[in-house]
Amino acid sequence: MSRYWNTGYYSQPAASELKKNSEASRKREKKRGNVLEPVVTQGRNLVKNWWGKAWCSNLERYADYESRLDRGKRYVRTGAVLDLKIQKGKVLARVQGTRKTPYKIEIRISPLSEEKCQNIIEKCGRKLENIEELLMGNFPIEMQELFQGKDGLFPSPKEISFNCSCPDWALMCKHVAAALYGVGVRLDEQPLLFFELRGIDVDRFIDVTLANKVEAMLANEGKPSSRIIEDEDIAGLFGVL
Ligand SMILES: [Zn+2]
Repeated sequence: MSRYWNTGYYSQPAASELKKNSEASRKREKKRGNVLEPVVTQGRNLVKNWWGKAWCSNLERYADYESRLDRGKRYVRTGAVLDLKIQKGKVLARVQGTRKTPYKIEIRISPLSEEKCQNIIEKCGRKLENIEELLMGNFPIEMQELFQGKDGLFPSPKEISFNCSCPDWALMCKHVAAALYGVGVRLDEQPLLFFELRGIDVDRFIDVTLANKVEAMLANEGKPSSRIIEDEDIAGLFGVL
């Protein structure tokens, strides 16, 4: 085990070995009836949208972990993140390494306080277009401010904790790094998962947005705000649902 104490040496499995092991693990899991949600990337860039890039840059601010981050990126490109599930306040991932059994990673992200949730919901919910965009997989650029500052959707380093089943001594091993980049890829595709991850109830967010819209419409029409709108009318004005 001495190599784990030697900072000058890291095992660096060949991409072909990782791919072979990953394929074998996928087959094994399928046979067991387990449904995997792999992180799939195309080309050199892991992400294509500004919010995905913002997530990755945020990770890279953790300069202490720089070397492991690069290895993590390589793992994502190789397809070694076999499974990644984003849930409320946590991420569960399985990342293939040199061993037959993929490593298990759990990343915990502190949920936002009720006050911060409320603040974000209010900011996003001002315009119906914002949520339409989100449901279509686009994070509106005007919501960029939500990613910055201490009250934003991005977790600060002290709000993240993680562990991995591998024997690497590093606080952030390459498998955790791969999972964190994997989160960036997943969020790049499905930005609403940002809300899930930070513990914001997406249904509540949609309800607030709809309520704001309905209120605004009623105000414009000069009708009393107590008027009841039938469900199908709401679905109609919110066509994407
Ligand atoms: Zn690990």
